[in-house]
Amino acid sequence: MRPFEYYSPRTLSEACNLLAEGEPDSKILAGGTDVLVEMRKSSAWSSKAIVDITRIPSLRGIGESGDWIIIKPLTTHTEVLHSDLVRTHAPLLQTAVSTIGSPQIRNRGTVGGNIMNAAACADTVPPLIALDAEIMLKSTSGERVIALSEFFVKPYVTVARRDEILVEVRFPKLPANARSSFVKLGRRNALSIARLSVAAVVCKDEAGVVTDARIVPGAAFPRWQRVPEAEKLLIGQKPSKELLVEGGKKVSEVMISFTGRRWSTEYKEPVIAVLVRRALEACE
Ligand SMILES: Cc1cc2nc3c(=O)[nH]c(=O)nc-3n(C[C@H](O)[C@H](O)[C@H](O)COP(=O)(O)OP(=O)(O)OC[C@H]3O[C@@H](n4cnc5c(N)ncnc54)[C@H](O)[C@@H]3O)c2cc1C
Repeated sequence: MRPFEYYSPRTLSEACNLLAEGEPDSKILAGGTDVLVEMRKSSAWSSKAIVDITRIPSLRGIGESGDWIIIKPLTTHTEVLHSDLVRTHAPLLQTAVSTIGSPQIRNRGTVGGNIMNAAACADTVPPLIALDAEIMLKSTSGERVIALSEFFVKPYVTVARRDEILVEVRFPKLPANARSSFVKLGRRNALSIARLSVAAVVCKDEAGVVTDARIVPGAAFPRWQRVPEAEKLLIGQKPSKELLVEGGKKVSEVMISFTGRRWSTEYKEPVIAVLVRRALEACE
């Protein structure tokens, strides 16, 4: 490991100043479960300073404001897992964090780190996009709010500038008639990153007709996105087994229109269709 400067700011403005005026190649450190791995193994590691934000109290916690849930970036996956607010208003996010790594990783890893690392397999991202989440970034130049669906450019690349800190993740509470789910397929059952995943939200009226549907596959598209072509198939319908199968096949078809056919398509084409069907069935 190469030598580096270590800073431990106690306030957000101190952290913003360090990123703006300090070592130009600084790296923010939260739980460290991605950063430490990168530091130790990557020959491309070039950061000369670490800005450890874990001692900034304003970056922790889960709360609500009117119809919104607010998750601060240093909230760990374990804290999300035990949050009554998330259980009540965004259960698919709780399911997603329950699949992350191991208890040790969930105790250290944060929601903010998971988003900012932007790995294609990041498990909090599909549910947060299905929840229509927004994020707030802060720097010495001010704050800006971005829809999470607009935040990612490609795996490991976002529109965030290097001097910006993620300070808030927020999303509207799911309506009372919403059912939601997250399904993930890994190479094994524990300590497994997603080969593919699907987050889904389905709202129905009293007659059982779908009024809203959101489907967000993980690790399937070049960047995370909803699949309106499949969502439209469901809206206005009473779901049948055949309709859910059709929804799955549509996602598969749209995925291939984005990725083209490559070595993994033979596997991903049927598997994403089945995962979507399962995610939609779990919303029944
Ligand atoms: C064994 C193992 C298993 C894992 N399993 C999974 C899994 O199943 N699913 C999954 O999704 N991930 C998994 N991960 C990856 C990792 O645990 C998560 O991505 C975690 O949420 C990262 O959070 P962190 O706080 O540790 O981030 P860090 O490692 O501290 O930071 C990650 C990145 O985000 C940046 N960053 C962090 N916070 C901020 C902020 N507030 N503002 C701006 N930039 C910020 C850092 O600079 C860095 O680039 C695993 C990792 C390990 C080591």
